[in-house]
Amino acid sequence: MSFRDKLFGNSGSDMAIDLGTANTLVSVLGQGIVINEPSLVVIDQNESRVLAVGAAARDMLGSTSEHVVAVRPLKDGVVADFDVTEAMLRYFMERAQPNHSRLGAKPRVVVCVPSGVTSLEKRAVFEAAITAGARQAFLIEEPMAAAIGAGLPVDNPMGTMIVDIGGGTTEIAVISAGGIVSSTSVRFAGDAFDAAVVQYVKRHFGVAIDERTAEEIKIVIGSAAPLVEEVDVEVRGRDLASGSLRTVRIESEDVRDALEEPVERIFRAIKDTLVETPSDLVNDIVEYGITLTGGGALLRGLDERLRQEIGVPAHVSETALINVVEGCARVLESPDFLDQSYMQQK
Ligand code: ADP
Ligand code: MG
Repeated sequence: MSFRDKLFGNSGSDMAIDLGTANTLVSVLGQGIVINEPSLVVIDQNESRVLAVGAAARDMLGSTSEHVVAVRPLKDGVVADFDVTEAMLRYFMERAQPNHSRLGAKPRVVVCVPSGVTSLEKRAVFEAAITAGARQAFLIEEPMAAAIGAGLPVDNPMGTMIVDIGGGTTEIAVISAGGIVSSTSVRFAGDAFDAAVVQYVKRHFGVAIDERTAEEIKIVIGSAAPLVEEVDVEVRGRDLASGSLRTVRIESEDVRDALEEPVERIFRAIKDTLVETPSDLVNDIVEYGITLTGGGALLRGLDERLRQEIGVPAHVSETALINVVEGCARVLESPDFLDQSYMQQK
């Protein structure tokens, strides 16, 4: 029996959960990531009933009606609806460990939430994990989980900076000696990029596209710095004047224009965080570079642009989409982490 098992009992069903604004990932100890699905719930409002969660909910998009609506419970980094958040958490926990009730072993769960959520909302997530079947729940601050997952030397006195650009929130933190020294959480990330593309296409082409189309455009040809080879895509949307469907050709330069403002806003938040950071740690960051993570960090050229604009090297983590859940799993695996201040058991 391992030291861990002695300390905590059977760990077979213990799990780490990244409750993201766009995507939820669950990693079961000893198995790795078993769930990676949208943080999405489809609800029948007439009967206050959950119809589908995660990937199944995404597949229902488009077939929603007046009373059947799709909800992203953490869209803006806040727990908008406790019941829906709990339903989603319960669904993912049961999916991750289908036999846990039969085996009688309730899991211990480490959940990571956006650091912008209030203590009341953290409490709500904690309660949700317990009512969803956790024996014990721990909440961990997202930037710390992201930094651990990205392999940053968090326990080292050296200062490092992690920037996690998700769907609804960007979390920026300077970490040194196992703690967060300064941090900023803004409700502004990948979704804002999509919204900017919607606005741009409306203004410059007179065509309305939905946010899913805008997200596709962003992922396929979006960038924050000039591309070696500029490209374009054809997009179908509704002509605002005639109301009929129209196809327009959008260039990667257009999309870069559209993304200029939201990219600048994120850079401003990074600069603000650096200003609040003690100068010896800033020197470390200049030396080591800024680590970019989260799905939003995958926007082409973001690292290059950041280097140009702030004069600090930046690199995108190769495991940007899974760092948070991996970081949570590392915390779960290591009893030492439990003593550390960034882990709260409430
Ligand atoms: P969260 O942690 O908030 O759930 P994620 O880290 O899963 O968010 O990131 C989701 C965001 O990443 C979405 O806005 C999505 O459009 C964006 N994204 C994913 N892949 C790419 C890509 N290749 N290029 C640009 N943006 C991307
Ligand atoms: Mg995230």
